[in-house]
Amino acid sequence: MFHEEFIKRLDEAQRQGLLTYQREKPLSKCSSFRIGGPVRYALYPATEEGVLEIFRLTAEHSIPLRVVGSGSNILFPDEGVDGAILFTRDLSFVNIEGTTIKAGAGIGLTTLASLVQKEGLSGLEFGYGIPGSLGGGVYMNAGAYDGELSYVVKKSRYYDRASGSFGTLSGVEHGFSYRHSAYMGTDKVILDVELELKEGDPAEIRATMDDYMARRKSKQPLEYPSAGSAFKRYPGYFTAKLIDEAGLKGYAVGDAAVSEKHAGFVINKGNATSAQVKELMALITQRIYELHGIHIEREIIYF
Ligand SMILES: Cc1cc2nc3c(=O)[nH]c(=O)nc-3n(C[C@H](O)[C@H](O)[C@H](O)COP(=O)(O)OP(=O)(O)OC[C@H]3O[C@@H](n4cnc5c(N)ncnc54)[C@H](O)[C@@H]3O)c2cc1C
Repeated sequence: MFHEEFIKRLDEAQRQGLLTYQREKPLSKCSSFRIGGPVRYALYPATEEGVLEIFRLTAEHSIPLRVVGSGSNILFPDEGVDGAILFTRDLSFVNIEGTTIKAGAGIGLTTLASLVQKEGLSGLEFGYGIPGSLGGGVYMNAGAYDGELSYVVKKSRYYDRASGSFGTLSGVEHGFSYRHSAYMGTDKVILDVELELKEGDPAEIRATMDDYMARRKSKQPLEYPSAGSAFKRYPGYFTAKLIDEAGLKGYAVGDAAVSEKHAGFVINKGNATSAQVKELMALITQRIYELHGIHIEREIIYF
């Protein structure tokens, strides 16, 4: 189906500075896994009005719409997406007032961690090296090295597609737990986030961040595309250790392989497909079940 009127309205919105867009954008270029066919419309709102315009236009033209941050926790389908994706990339303002930070959902966690370090603000060191956006981080309650977003998020503002209204979640309303927030399974798009940090010494904060990054580089297969840890922790077990002990390090389906460096990562060795990753993930899950009687749960989102 050719959406002539829809494209005309997108062009208008683009001229007004509300958004930019690309047609038939390869999702392999929008994902840390480097996997995925084209999305029919890749939409990048520049402002909140742009977000609203995207919701309006896609609803009016019955074009399915999904939201993506940095695409660092997602496996996109090989056949692509016959609809639209709103990428939050350009919703990336940052306001710092004392120890309170307000930032757009699209800003990268690593960029934000570096910015606040320069201001002598501590609490986001753990985010340095996580390749996701702030919004994606809140959605997943991203964390590392004993830190997680739940410790520093004060408020988040969203637009709810279901009700067509804006709203705010504060503190416990986020329902944070391990890699979980109240945003999961809803129609809410996180627009911006307020964080409460603590004053600290910029040099010390920098040293902690550098230490975390060095640990990532030494332990994680950052030289290959991936979507981070493939599976969640299972209570009482280290999933990567289970996979390693099952003899699966290096095991591959096509170009999708269990990393030799860190068994918790499934990597793309070149031209892995979504189907190969799924087959490998299913095989790992099955093998761990046979050996231990437990069902490990994937962390990677199948789009
Ligand atoms: C090398 C590597 C290392 C990693 N290390 C870590 C780590 O240490 N800790 C960790 O927790 N994760 C880690 N990850 C995984 C990933 O970076 C995080 O889960 C991150 O929070 C995902 O953010 P994103 O913006 O990329 O989200 P995406 O992958 O774009 O999206 C993930 C989900 O969030 C939703 N979403 C994104 N933005 C919004 C929004 N604004 N509003 C509503 N929903 C939204 C999407 O719809 C999707 O369902 C790693 C990944 C890689 C590749």
